[in-house]
Amino acid sequence: MTENFKLTYATMYNPPAFLHEKFEEALAAFEYGKEYPLLIGGKEVYSENKMKNISPINTDNVVGVFQKASKAEANLAIEAAHKAFEVWSKTPWQERVRVMRKAADLISERIFEISAAITLEVGKNRMEALGDAAETADLIRYACDQLEENNGYEIEMNPDPLSGYTSRNVSYLRPYGVWLVISPFNFPCALSGGPVGAALVAGNTVVMKPASDTTLSPYLVAKCLIDAGLPEGALNLVTGSGREAGQSLVDHPLVAGVTFTGSKGVGMGIYRDYANGDYVRPIILELGGKNPCIVSKNANLEDASTGIVRSAFGLQGQKCSANSRVYIHEDVYDELVEKIVEKTKALKIANPTLIDANMGPVVNKAAYEDYQKYVADLKENGTTLVGGEILTEGEFGKGYYCEPAVFADVPADHYLWKHEMFLPITMLDKFSDLDDVMKVANDVPYGLTAGFYGTEEEAAWFFDNIEAGVCYANRPQGSTTGAWPGHQPFGGWKGSGAQGKNAGGHHYLQIYMREQSTTLVWKS
Ligand code: NAP
Ligand code: MG
Repeated sequence: MTENFKLTYATMYNPPAFLHEKFEEALAAFEYGKEYPLLIGGKEVYSENKMKNISPINTDNVVGVFQKASKAEANLAIEAAHKAFEVWSKTPWQERVRVMRKAADLISERIFEISAAITLEVGKNRMEALGDAAETADLIRYACDQLEENNGYEIEMNPDPLSGYTSRNVSYLRPYGVWLVISPFNFPCALSGGPVGAALVAGNTVVMKPASDTTLSPYLVAKCLIDAGLPEGALNLVTGSGREAGQSLVDHPLVAGVTFTGSKGVGMGIYRDYANGDYVRPIILELGGKNPCIVSKNANLEDASTGIVRSAFGLQGQKCSANSRVYIHEDVYDELVEKIVEKTKALKIANPTLIDANMGPVVNKAAYEDYQKYVADLKENGTTLVGGEILTEGEFGKGYYCEPAVFADVPADHYLWKHEMFLPITMLDKFSDLDDVMKVANDVPYGLTAGFYGTEEEAAWFFDNIEAGVCYANRPQGSTTGAWPGHQPFGGWKGSGAQGKNAGGHHYLQIYMREQSTTLVWKS
């Protein structure tokens, strides 16, 4: 970001002043209510139906007016990508890397404009928003690094042991074709731009469909990619409802691969529908989480409480990696609970455009209503340690503001121990035996992230036994959140992810490519 400050989710708690100044300039320049087109085959396309992107900070504010694509427009985008595949897949991989690095640099250049849009449409605080945009550029760069480090995945194999003939045997990884990227609202840039970047640098062409709540920042990222010099139609952006436009894209027979990031329910539906095609095609699913943290009696409770509160309530608990279950050894339970409650009370809920806001609103009306429903249930069936109210006074009444809430004494068989709420709500429980609590921690259909606080020896036991794709121990920067490309490859096990290979790691880019081995023989 500058020579001496590298923004990541681990470093964002101590930002330099210039970040704030630039962010505020971008915010002041922001124009509400503008209309944005679909981007198809290098053209701006306007649909008959429109949809409004409303800010959860103040629902009077329209962040932008977007196109609600029809099935015909979704098909047009797939056809444009299919046509562009001919050109882009034949472009030498070094040239693809050059264009994609340019795109990453444009995202870095426009990071303040993009992050202001993220704050306004998601309700993220400014550091989380800047992180989302910076991560997008780093994910693209990481995919470029991988292609370069592996020489475009061109590998000389052993020649055949022939007499009188020589053979040259080569293994290549080649792109599939049209890749569909469907993304969620909570990391609208990183989870659209990251997979889009990997798919493109691998030589596929792309249709992207962002979540309807958060269409502007993915649009701005798409512009960076297109401005970097992609051929016409190599990247297409379709906005519109998941049920209509999204489903039409999933059902299109020319789709050669899919990356879906979102809820387990929607993801499993897409997985089943996609399987109705003529043959098996790759699909990357990154789904929900119900992420546990285990705190042993040997833990540093200061670090544990800081990490837990950050991961439970960062982005209002709306992270797939949010820490929604905390299991605490009985010997340190009271002391840790006191610290967690104190640190939760210290969180500042405010308009997230403000410098000192820790928490902004939740994303939309449905989330706001879910919060009230879950809290009522947990109040009745457990003990409220802190929070649980919605905020309606003054300016808060225009948005979807909820207090961070911590509950204890919820019966072990209550459904919310296993259900992803995706809200600023976390649940605590007490344990006496580490092996027993590990069974409880693993007894969910998810396996995304997990946290631990205790000795180094215990941490090794934790890593060996926890069923999760991303694991942290003794981390005050976040008990279960805060992965960064190239540092913590990110992906889920079980119901949290289908590939077993994590984004921003060594084994990810290959999923976007298929192997071709070639043998050429000549007389010698
Ligand atoms: P969501 O409701 O599942 O929606 C995700 C995307 O799917 C949106 O773009 C949505 O469009 C689209 N969609 C809905 N129905 C569709 C259909 N029938 N066909 C095609 N597309 C369809 O998820 P969300 O509420 O935006 O995001 C929160 C979820 O994402 C949580 O479960 C969270 O854990 C998960 N998540 C996972 C990861 C990870 O890396 N594992 C990361 C972040 C978030 P509309 O918006 O138009 O409905
Ligand atoms: Mg919105």
